Amino acid sequence: MALSAAPGIKAAIPKMAKERLRIAIQKSGRLTDKSLDLLSRCGLDFARSKDALFCFGRNMPVDLLLVRDDDIPGFLAEGICDVGLVGDNVAAEKACASFFSGKPSQAKTVQRVRGLGYGACRLSIALPQEYAYHHLGDLQGMTLATSYPALLQKFLDEQKIEARVIYLSGSVEIAPRLGTADGICDLVSSGATLAANRLQEVHTLLESEAALYQRDLSAETKKQNILNVLLQRLNSVLQVSASKYVMLHAPASQVAAITQILPAAESPTVLPLEGTTQRVAVHTLCRENVLWEHLEQLKAIGASAILVLPVEKMLA
Ligand code: ATP
Ligand code: ZN
Repeated sequence: MALSAAPGIKAAIPKMAKERLRIAIQKSGRLTDKSLDLLSRCGLDFARSKDALFCFGRNMPVDLLLVRDDDIPGFLAEGICDVGLVGDNVAAEKACASFFSGKPSQAKTVQRVRGLGYGACRLSIALPQEYAYHHLGDLQGMTLATSYPALLQKFLDEQKIEARVIYLSGSVEIAPRLGTADGICDLVSSGATLAANRLQEVHTLLESEAALYQRDLSAETKKQNILNVLLQRLNSVLQVSASKYVMLHAPASQVAAITQILPAAESPTVLPLEGTTQRVAVHTLCRENVLWEHLEQLKAIGASAILVLPVEKMLA
């Protein structure tokens, strides 16, 4: 499998400018809106026409390339873009495929910088529900359909399992019903697609999320500096989206227990409540998401009027 992207697309892309950072994102798919939203929350503004492949950054020296997600690792390796927002699953498959094809150096030039907190899924092997699965050895001799042949083959080799891998570019989940495969290796998020196709998930090969990947910019200081500014903004934006401001009333004796329950809570503000010395108001910033389980635990130790508010901007 080639790491290179389709030549027709490459011809349509403007030549890379030395002093502008170029970010590739998925043109149309599950990651598109979240990637655009994240970049916009980092303050980037693009002149974007609907079908454009290339968008010029209006307020920072950062341009956007909108392409198929599968092309992003290849574009990074070939220096057609500097940064890519892509699923770990795609990056790992391309790195693995380039290793198999004897070009490991290409994959090495592409580095994962950080996860972005969306596009979570896992690459798993699934078999028909009626199959009585016991262990990985059951896969011996099976035919498995997948869009991730390199990752699956690597996994089978490591486990010393001899199975036939067949490549399908889409609708992998229907292969067992069509009789073209015994099982599949595909992306799973909620598991609803597997259930709808009467498949059971038997083994996870890889946990994935959308992540920021970059090519080696050590010889291009200007671009790396632009990327550093963007990474700082990304850190703030991602921290803010996880952070919550919590306000509640509680017995004065339970303030310490409350900060223990709340995830990554800062030192709280404790305020008196009119007409009582037994209960106080507690306000605190939590640096991680506050879940229903946390609220239930707070209620169990006597908290009431619990409010969880989103944080819009934060300068630490
Ligand atoms: P393209 O046309 O760009 O090649 P695609 O059909 O390969 O698109 P999408 O289905 O839009 O890709 O998925 C993009 C990415 O979203 C996946 O590579 C993966 O990282 C992530 N993702 C999250 N959950 C799922 C899921 N349940 N199924 C598939 N992908 C998922
Ligand atoms: Zn794709």
